[in-house]
Amino acid sequence: MELLAYGWDLVRYGLTGWAWPAILAFTLITTHLTIIGVTVFLHRCQAHRALELHPLVSHPLRFWLWLSTGMVTKEWAAIHRKHHAKCETEEDPHSPQTRGIETVLWRGAELYRVAAKDSELVERYGHGTPDDWIERNLYTKHSALGVSILLVVEVLMFGVIGAAVWAIQMAWIPMLAAGVINGIGHWWGYRNFKSPDTSTNISPWGILIGGEELHNNHHTFATSPKLSSKWYEFDIGWMYIRLLSFVGLAKPRALPAEMLLDPARDQIDADTVEAVISYKYELIAVLSKTFKRDLRKIKPQSASAEKWSELRKEFESMWSRRQMTVEQAVHGLQAWCAKAEASGSAALIEFSRQIRMVIPRRIAA
Ligand SMILES: [Zn+2]
Ligand SMILES: [Zn+2]
Repeated sequence: MELLAYGWDLVRYGLTGWAWPAILAFTLITTHLTIIGVTVFLHRCQAHRALELHPLVSHPLRFWLWLSTGMVTKEWAAIHRKHHAKCETEEDPHSPQTRGIETVLWRGAELYRVAAKDSELVERYGHGTPDDWIERNLYTKHSALGVSILLVVEVLMFGVIGAAVWAIQMAWIPMLAAGVINGIGHWWGYRNFKSPDTSTNISPWGILIGGEELHNNHHTFATSPKLSSKWYEFDIGWMYIRLLSFVGLAKPRALPAEMLLDPARDQIDADTVEAVISYKYELIAVLSKTFKRDLRKIKPQSASAEKWSELRKEFESMWSRRQMTVEQAVHGLQAWCAKAEASGSAALIEFSRQIRMVIPRRIAA
């Protein structure tokens, strides 16, 4: 009789006997850990090489991702790199622009699975990901084993409710990463930078999805380990990376630098073009910000407002042209600055002065 009661207790409460607040906390902490594994290890470290991780960090993260998602690093990195390379085209594995937002939002995980089966894609884009003994013999070979073990462990720990905890963990990445980031992150939100895709920042505070919310910043500076860019934005993944690098367990790559200006310089040449190309997103953002500020002072339909808007568009389109020699770019930029200076707008004159002073990072380094 006593044995039966014990068995019944085990089914109801598991070995831990934890009450629901503790189980809820466990669920939130473990799902957060999965998100951190995805954003810091899979995305920033593996797919983009934006940082290096010490084995003391990368091994536990790989193990946890195997237990909690069953995703294979090489496949993940390959699909994601192709997304950046072919963004918003038919070949993009999960663009809401070509596949429809409903499909990416609700069936994002399915799109991922289809792409993961494409061995040509995985071979072509998946280079440089882990290929050690444990990867070959366990994580890749038995990719579904981890999640099965986790189910058993959690039912033992919490009783039947452990199955619910597990189900939430299983739904977390397909919902938030495959659905929300890949779908909404190319559909709805605000844009800091005019990157040549439709990426958006979903929220200025990246906590729930580890900082991945700042997807427009990410597409603009894809190799930056930090996804926030404005002072009011927060990227929790970057906070962890900073902490890890503080104790010597992570080595982040250099951040997209502030523009380097040489006050003694006053010319437009090949160096200027090189610098402007590397800062083009910052410069386009500065220009559109000053434009908006100036519009408050001048009449929207006036001749000077039109001139302003024309110059702004011209500056933007100058850098989206694919085929352009350095010489053409130098001439184009010189002509643009001459027009900006003749416009009479103080902001445009100041902007063109900045262009004359800008120097490439290579020179400053
Ligand atoms: Zn994207
Ligand atoms: Zn990316």
